[in-house]
Amino acid sequence: MRDLINELYQEQTLSKANLINLLLHINDEEREYLYEKAYSVRYEHYKNSVYVRGLIEFSNYCKNDCTYCGISIHNKELTRYHMTPEEVIKTAEIGYSLGFRTFVMQGGEDTSFTDDKFAAIISSIKTQFPEAAVTLSIGERSKESYQKLYDAGADRFLIRHETINKNLYEKLHPKMSYENRIKSLFDLKDIGFQVGTGFMVGVPGQEIEDIADDLLFIKELNPHMIGIGPFIPHKNTPLRDESAGSAELTYTLIAILRLMLPTSLIPSTTSLATLKSENRYKGFRVGANVVMPNLTPYDYKKSYQLYDGKKITDTESYEALEQLKKECLDAGFYIDMARGDYKNWRRK
Ligand code: SAM
Repeated sequence: MRDLINELYQEQTLSKANLINLLLHINDEEREYLYEKAYSVRYEHYKNSVYVRGLIEFSNYCKNDCTYCGISIHNKELTRYHMTPEEVIKTAEIGYSLGFRTFVMQGGEDTSFTDDKFAAIISSIKTQFPEAAVTLSIGERSKESYQKLYDAGADRFLIRHETINKNLYEKLHPKMSYENRIKSLFDLKDIGFQVGTGFMVGVPGQEIEDIADDLLFIKELNPHMIGIGPFIPHKNTPLRDESAGSAELTYTLIAILRLMLPTSLIPSTTSLATLKSENRYKGFRVGANVVMPNLTPYDYKKSYQLYDGKKITDTESYEALEQLKKECLDAGFYIDMARGDYKNWRRK
């Protein structure tokens, strides 16, 4: 296994057979070796820094049927909300005054958010705060729509491919198009966005072979950002009775991805921290270098539960940010408040 880890470190990839072998047979000691290697690469490019992104969950309306997701159309119990453009902008202003320089607008696929509405919000934030970055996590749209949002000033776009196994994708999203999901990623890259993809670990039906394919797909796509977090069931979804994904496998995959794409931006995700709050810091030790505190106003974020157990705390305050900085320092990392673009990225 050590030879495989060394090969991964040197070549920045492995064959599918070797990835499967590694994932199936790595023991605890070898896992530590993998984590050390991933940490050394993280350190080489980012030292012990952690970039912060202020998350604004602007809407929990969604037309999609993702069987795992607490805000999908499957959840009939949910109180739906959408923030007004003024509320989104106000939230970004509060975040900016706290020192945030990246705002991530994330929501369900809410058809009331037209291109013009998004463009107005984006350009208002960018006019007020030209040095801040705007990231969108708003799902699938046409290439023309993505282009309009890029032209309005959006810099980054997160859209996980979820799984590269078409059969599994279609089981998890019975009414959605696998081809369109993948096309979105290539359209966004082509336009010039910094693009993030990723998948959930332990989503029902996922095999180790699928994970190896996901890793190789990510290597080939060569995204700027990669989001990997455990699946966690939600009580009002078809997958309510399934078990959550494993934190250890999530760390292993973060470490492998750090070795495969050394300069990528990888968050230590909220779902990882939901399993156990200390997990966030372990995520940094195995290669993650981003954290996304939630700036959404309290009354809205209560209704943005993608999975059970997501903590609803007042992270939009000065005290919460200071607490995060302190906890990072205690774990040996420091928060870097810069906007934290992918290295050498330039707007087209
Ligand atoms: N609608 C947008 C999209 O599809 O990209 C953005 C919002 S979507 C809720 C953000 C991500 O949450 C998804 O890509 C998915 O991987 C993750 N997610 C949803 N339900 C989850 C669950 N039960 N456990 C862990 N992650 C989940």
